[in-house]
Amino acid sequence: MSHPLRQSQRVVVKIGSALLVHHDAGTPRQDWLDALATDVAAMRADSKEVVIVSSGAIALGRRSLGLPKGVLKLDESQAAAAAGQIRLAHAYETALGAHDIPVAQVLVTLSDTEERRRYLNARNTLSTLLAYGAVPVINENDTVATDEIRFGDNDRLAARVAQMISADMLILLSDIDGLYTGDPRFDSAAEFLPHIRGVDARVEAMAGKPGDDGSGGMVTKLSAARIALSAGCHMLIANGRDQHALQGLYNGSARCTWFEATTSPRTAYKQWIAGSLRPKGRLVIDAGAAKALAQGRSLLPAGVRQVEDDFERGDAVIVVDQDRRELARGLVAYDSAAARQIAGHKSDAFEGLLGYRGRDEMIHRDDLVLSVPSGAGGNPDTDTHREAS
Ligand code: GLU
Repeated sequence: MSHPLRQSQRVVVKIGSALLVHHDAGTPRQDWLDALATDVAAMRADSKEVVIVSSGAIALGRRSLGLPKGVLKLDESQAAAAAGQIRLAHAYETALGAHDIPVAQVLVTLSDTEERRRYLNARNTLSTLLAYGAVPVINENDTVATDEIRFGDNDRLAARVAQMISADMLILLSDIDGLYTGDPRFDSAAEFLPHIRGVDARVEAMAGKPGDDGSGGMVTKLSAARIALSAGCHMLIANGRDQHALQGLYNGSARCTWFEATTSPRTAYKQWIAGSLRPKGRLVIDAGAAKALAQGRSLLPAGVRQVEDDFERGDAVIVVDQDRRELARGLVAYDSAAARQIAGHKSDAFEGLLGYRGRDEMIHRDDLVLSVPSGAGGNPDTDTHREAS
């Protein structure tokens, strides 16, 4: 079954600890990583953006600190992560640096992906890194995350990252080649499933019960699939043990399970803005800005006449014209106090007004959904939305 990796533009690759770290020695599998870097370089040469979510910090760090075998206590695994992350970053730097690819380490916590303001910061930083040609290498910031606020597994973290950056493909590389109708270790009749559309109860039953496996088992992979698919991102599960696993997926020769997304990341993101978020304020804009919006451009502070209500950066707001007709909804790049200060001003004045440089846009076009009136004098509450082109 062919899958749409070659058509994808922005690909998140999640790499499990078992692939990266020699089990006994606790050292990086540098040959494997070098082969991966060659595959990443080939994908980038084919105009793909690649983001890596990598496990392995704890596995690398526990040996270097001489921690005991077996399950680590929270403080021990946090110490191991701190010692191991630096080795992990070095291993990626060595492998990707050989292809002159800049590597950027990004450590995130659960709240970075759940709290909108931090979410927007992380999203902007990752987009900027990609725009400058870097490969972000992401892991959970295990050193500060406590048990209650941890992802604990990088499958879900990778899916959240994919959602955050509107990736259209998430690849989970681990030591499992995909989803089976049962557990192939115990059930010889278990059949391999190459293609899944939607994670329903039947599919979930195939993964077994939570607790059947540790972090990185099939249960967390299906949670990841649910997050990815709802964000319009396809997902592949593949065995990454062999060198050049990514290349095998890319040329279609490697076996994998493809979880098919039925919407695009862009549509999913815009539906989320238009439909799921409660607007916290209003921006009244002038005719020039309204025209720019209708042409699919961003909303600049210069065109904002009035800022109503109090909101935080990253909140959803309604954009209205001076007759109070709803024109759009979007995620605003400034809080209400800053928005009031720069409303009506051009970007070269922002620094003097705010004391920092700030973004040029009040609402970036990517974060904006135009409202379509349901008829003349349409009701803002029932109006539908269309994408800014
Ligand atoms: N963040 C952990 C580490 O780097 C890995 C979590 C996981 O295996 O999913 O060691």
